[in-house]
Amino acid sequence: MAGGGPELIAIVGGHLALDFANTAGWHASDERLEHLTDYSEWMVWMVRVGVLSQSTADGLLREAAAHPRRAQQALQRAHSLREAEYRVFSTLAQGLTPAMPDLALLHAAHVSALAAADAHWDAKSGFVVRWDHDGSDLASPLHPLAVKVAELLASPDLTALRQCGRHPCGWLFLDRSRNGSRRWCSSGDCGNAMRVAKFRGRL
Ligand SMILES: [Zn+2]
Repeated sequence: MAGGGPELIAIVGGHLALDFANTAGWHASDERLEHLTDYSEWMVWMVRVGVLSQSTADGLLREAAAHPRRAQQALQRAHSLREAEYRVFSTLAQGLTPAMPDLALLHAAHVSALAAADAHWDAKSGFVVRWDHDGSDLASPLHPLAVKVAELLASPDLTALRQCGRHPCGWLFLDRSRNGSRRWCSSGDCGNAMRVAKFRGRL
């Protein structure tokens, strides 16, 4: 895992849903490091991962500045969706069955996302759904994330789901290595730390 704010946080999940789950550090511990500490940090991250354009985020940020309580509530919803998502995927990564209340929360977020979406035909991608993000709902950036979470839950890619082996990093990723041997969220961070620890253990 990597520290820092939304500009620095490593994007190593291999899937948008997992990168969202990884917006907190030391995620497998009780002392989670929150990287999205306010609404504007969430928007920085959303632009960085390409879900929102800068101009859309700017519009949401103007609305958030005018309505700080609504912005705070939207951020809390983002945290709560992310934590349910994290619990579900980390449970799945351990080969266990996720808790129904968490699955129900993800499902409800997916249903809300689709209900709030407009249908479009894209020359390249075909049928797609989109959201206005006009600021009337400051939690609307959750919609594309909820859809990605639902897609991954139903995807064959789930067999490649792994959790970083460095406790308590707990970050999630899809192992795309040819022999399925990736153990760390990033070899330059947790991987190095574990190699150093192993080396020191031999001295
Ligand atoms: Zn890690």
